[in-house]
Amino acid sequence: MKVPFGDLSRQYKKYKKEFDNIISSVFANGNFILGENVTRFENNFSNYLGAKYAVGVGSATEALFLALKAIGIKNGDEVITVANTAVPTVSAIDFAGAKPVFIDIEETSYNINPKRIENRITLKTKAIIPVHLYGNPCNMDSIIQIAQKYDLKVIEDSAQAHGAQYKGKKVGTFGDFGAFSFYPSKNLGANGDAGMVVTNNEEFAKKIKLLRNYGFEDRYKSIIRGFNSRLDEIQAALLDFKLTKLDEWNLKRKQISDMYSKGLKGLPIILPSAAPENKHVFHLYVIRVKQREKFMKFISDEGVGTIIHYPIPIHLQPAYKYLNYKKGFLPVTEKVAEEIVSLPIFPDLEDNEVEYVIKSIKKFFN
Ligand SMILES: *Cc1c(COP(=O)(O)O)cnc(C)c1O
Repeated sequence: MKVPFGDLSRQYKKYKKEFDNIISSVFANGNFILGENVTRFENNFSNYLGAKYAVGVGSATEALFLALKAIGIKNGDEVITVANTAVPTVSAIDFAGAKPVFIDIEETSYNINPKRIENRITLKTKAIIPVHLYGNPCNMDSIIQIAQKYDLKVIEDSAQAHGAQYKGKKVGTFGDFGAFSFYPSKNLGANGDAGMVVTNNEEFAKKIKLLRNYGFEDRYKSIIRGFNSRLDEIQAALLDFKLTKLDEWNLKRKQISDMYSKGLKGLPIILPSAAPENKHVFHLYVIRVKQREKFMKFISDEGVGTIIHYPIPIHLQPAYKYLNYKKGFLPVTEKVAEEIVSLPIFPDLEDNEVEYVIKSIKKFFN
């Protein structure tokens, strides 16, 4: 048996008719950029989250970048985040001209440790970007409290957490902005690149709309210095359909995670856990094992695909050497990075495949 880490062709098999109809209707309509599908999806996505405004952009990297631009980030400013994230979180900070400042994580949630934020705040600190890693919400009460105390903006990197909730409210709606990715494998995925900025602030929403389209107030009239980062009509139309499936897909991810957690109990593995106030949406199911290389090799020989999210914390990446972090600076981040492995989890994964993964893991430990 072979269990792939991911397989999006299964989604197409299931919804071929719907997808084909959506694509041909956009082609027939002949409008490909900033049309009715983008507006409709923006409205439906903001309603889904319980946010006032949503603005479609090219990717989550650009959503974060434009949000930083919208709050006026300039060269030399500092932005607080974590090092155990996807590189794009940091690319956005870097390309906006700011310096990323990395905070260590909590060992249970793998999210930013709010207790470690305050003593890294300087006069240059302008914003915090918490990352709801793997679909598990950050401790937003503590983060918002610190941000208010020091007058910092909060941009939630919600790229892995569509529909996740903290204390009954969806993530992406706590801070000044939420940034979402619709990269194909995300909980809500496009069939190409796409992203969204979410906000409850009308001025910020207007600013993002200008920034994503050359600063155009009207056609060919630029009122601020802008850029090109637009969500296209085909992706928006497909995403608007897929949004109606998101809760069902998140539920499927939760069911798979429950199967894993039950089946793997008692083995020398650290399983994922979420605080009681969190609704985790399991973008990834990440376990920790001591002999990771041996484990991955064995599981791979059994036919099971695994990936590490992420093997090199950003402060130790060659590209970010210039920030001058030394190994040992973020002990929890660094320790966890050596032990984590992501198991297959996606809505079209079959129960017998999940059972096979559990069986293979048990075989390794026997
Ligand atoms: C996927 C991801 C991004 C980047 O999203 P893109 O849409 O590919 O730019 C940013 N942050 C996190 C945590 C991600 O998982």
